[in-house]
Amino acid sequence: MPAPVNIIGKKYGYWTVIKRSKNINGRSTWVCECKCGNRKIVKLHDLRNGRSKSCGCLRKETTSKNFKTHNLTNHRLFSIWSCMKTRCYNPNATNYERYGARGIRICDEWLNDFMNFYNWSMGNGYKDDLTIDRINNDGNYESSNCRWATIEQQANNKRSYKGR
Ligand SMILES: [Zn+2]
Repeated sequence: MPAPVNIIGKKYGYWTVIKRSKNINGRSTWVCECKCGNRKIVKLHDLRNGRSKSCGCLRKETTSKNFKTHNLTNHRLFSIWSCMKTRCYNPNATNYERYGARGIRICDEWLNDFMNFYNWSMGNGYKDDLTIDRINNDGNYESSNCRWATIEQQANNKRSYKGR
């Protein structure tokens, strides 16, 4: 019988191994503590091959790091996102009347995280000369109701909805 491995105290990414847990399908698992304090049972295999590096917070951190690296606050999408929030949620905004006051909202996914909005935009035809268009003019800002369109397309769209 091979000697049981002891990896207590070892570090794998953000994980520090705390103690052994019971085997799952004959494979050893270990209670690990993430740098952020979260604890989870992780398979030795996943620790060794690097599949598990943290409780999930490492990935989040990497995303926000990329966000800073690329300095996306200067990106056109960032101002689009900011203006969208203002006209939907700030009663003092000049165009609030046509948005927030009419009940137009932004889906939580976009509202809470600029990166979600950014990634959706990049994956859905964003270009510097396009603006965000709500397909149903009475609907919310959410992926199922938005597209990137030219000003002309938007004008057509508004007209076609008016008659309904
Ligand atoms: Zn963590």
